[in-house]
Amino acid sequence: MVEPIRMTTREHRAAALAEAGYNTFLLKSEDVYIDLLTDSGTSAMSDWQWAGMMLGDEAYAGSRNFYNLEEAVRQYYGYSHVIPTHQGRGAEHILSQICIQPGDTVPGNMYFTTTRYHQEHAGGEFVDVIIDEAHDPTSLHPFKGNVDLDKLEHVLKTARRVPYLSLAATVNMAGGQPVSMENVRATRALCDRYGVPIMLDGTRAVENAYFIQQREPGYQDKKVADILREMCSYTDGCTMSGKKDPLVNIGGWLALNDAALADKARNLVVVYEGLHTYGGMAGRDMEAMARGIVESVQDDHIRARVGQVQYLGELLIDWAIPVVQPIGGHAVYLDARRFYPDMPQINFPAQTLAAELYLDSGVRAMERGIVSAGRNKHTGDHYYPKLELVRLTIPRRVYTQAHMDVVAESVDAVYRNPDKPKGLKMVYEPEYLRFFQARFEPIRE
Ligand SMILES: *Cc1c(COP(=O)(O)O)cnc(C)c1O
Repeated sequence: MVEPIRMTTREHRAAALAEAGYNTFLLKSEDVYIDLLTDSGTSAMSDWQWAGMMLGDEAYAGSRNFYNLEEAVRQYYGYSHVIPTHQGRGAEHILSQICIQPGDTVPGNMYFTTTRYHQEHAGGEFVDVIIDEAHDPTSLHPFKGNVDLDKLEHVLKTARRVPYLSLAATVNMAGGQPVSMENVRATRALCDRYGVPIMLDGTRAVENAYFIQQREPGYQDKKVADILREMCSYTDGCTMSGKKDPLVNIGGWLALNDAALADKARNLVVVYEGLHTYGGMAGRDMEAMARGIVESVQDDHIRARVGQVQYLGELLIDWAIPVVQPIGGHAVYLDARRFYPDMPQINFPAQTLAAELYLDSGVRAMERGIVSAGRNKHTGDHYYPKLELVRLTIPRRVYTQAHMDVVAESVDAVYRNPDKPKGLKMVYEPEYLRFFQARFEPIRE
């Protein structure tokens, strides 16, 4: 089906933005023209998925849709045990609670907001072990998501206890950047030497597999589905947000190979999510996700999906607009530092840029910089991430190339606007995951 979108005036948008505290998360969807806030749960479902929705088995226990989901995860991701959750963070919560003890260190290839929150909430400390290139928006390294093996080994040697390595593929906060198969294999070998398991954040692992097919020698003739299976085979489990690669509006899962650990997870899931055969999802939603998994690994689908993101990115590169390169799998990331070179990071350049873009055209994007990074739990100071970005996230199977052109023109207009804003000040700061609900006011002087 199609959904009408609404054009608004600049005056209307200025009022909506002020009302939303200059935070694009607080805008009403009806005030947005082209919505690139996130690719999470915003994909369009196929006819086959919608048909599956009609086959929902809403039994409390043992729904047939659960077994279809379990089968799809086993077939395409290769893990033995599948525990459904309401979305990715539900799986992160369960995994963190069953694996992490207070005082543990959890290394990972760059933090993700909800992932790190649950690791810290369970008493762990996150340590970033991604390669340095990931923090440099101009580095053209083809696999900027790679784990730095020296950094990882240092953590494995010195930490009191490491419950697992948290491996993201692709790396959202680095700009949707992939990990190479060679790096996953080497990381596995290193972790094996220290007896440390690897837990994959599989949210966009299909997109990662596509980049391996495109960029890594030896994989050109392999199917994305086979590359995905190989990648997962080097890991011990995975958390999944069904709202990304698997093409559904809600859902997720935790997958594990270790039977004893899976039993613990199945026990805890009933406390927080629901029985272990639905985990917070309706039967029909599990069916849509089972079918979405099958569709998501088809080469034609993933080529078109990532190709659309590349199209927008290359347009902006051609127009000399500062973006994170190479272009990622799910989003184009604008480098706010180079939009506003004179603005101090504490004036929230990326938050400001997202607001300016909305004001210009009604295109909604999201901040991925100092606001998202939050504060250090011990010192209370802001984290000051090197990357100060605005994410233009492309929903799957929703927009056309013409929409991408409109987005590019608005980004260009904001970039070339000689009247530079001074930035924002935060006037309300929530305690957890502040970027979702924080409020701001413009700095006028
Ligand atoms: C979205 C996301 C999550 C969390 O998933 P939700 O379904 O939003 O709870 C975890 N990791 C990454 C990389 C994500 O992009």
